[in-house]
Amino acid sequence: MFLKSIEVQGFKSFANKMVFEFHKGITGIVGPNGSGKSNVADAVRWVLGEQSAKQLRGSRMEDVIFSGTESRKPLGFAYVAITLDNSDHQLAVEYDTVTVSRRVYRSGESEYKINGHNCRLKDVQELFFDTGIGKEGYSIIGQGQIDKILSGKPEERRELFDEAAGIVKYKRRKALTEKNLAEEQQNLSRVRDILYELE
Ligand code: ATP
Repeated sequence: MFLKSIEVQGFKSFANKMVFEFHKGITGIVGPNGSGKSNVADAVRWVLGEQSAKQLRGSRMEDVIFSGTESRKPLGFAYVAITLDNSDHQLAVEYDTVTVSRRVYRSGESEYKINGHNCRLKDVQELFFDTGIGKEGYSIIGQGQIDKILSGKPEERRELFDEAAGIVKYKRRKALTEKNLAEEQQNLSRVRDILYELE
């Protein structure tokens, strides 16, 4: 699996629709300070479901929408789509090419799509579990992140290894099943109380 392209429109400094195409191997993005290099990585983080404005170097989520320049009015929405080559089917879907997109309006209304079909944030997160690509994954290493990992708590480092080992999805399923089990046990004890009162 590899990243084939990133399409941005109205996202941070990218007012016009712009498509970055990548090929197998290493691609470098170079440019003067403040020209938007880090905004490209932010776009990938954002489309993968990043919910923290701080992680995207802003203070509110609306900050990802192009805020205008001297010569250009602000835009009303931000849009990012990433396309991945999935011919090795590392992502558990039948498609050889997978496009994930996210759009947000100033009103706060937002939408996610996988291959053009509306979906929930949860679906995007689940698609990337255990691939290292999710927003918590290790495929985007931001400035200062290595230091954070090295000086972090052992439990936090463990999360990274769990993701690399591919067991995050099982841990999440286990947690969900335990939650359902606890709810059923509560229901059961309620039924027992009712039965006791009736007897
Ligand atoms: P450096 O080399 O200094 O790290 P960079 O090339 O990584 O810089 P970025 O940090 O990606 O640059 O981009 C910063 C630019 O993006 C700034 O000029 C900033 O004004 C612009 N920018 C960020 N958010 C928005 C927005 N919502 N609307 C318009 N421009 C924005």
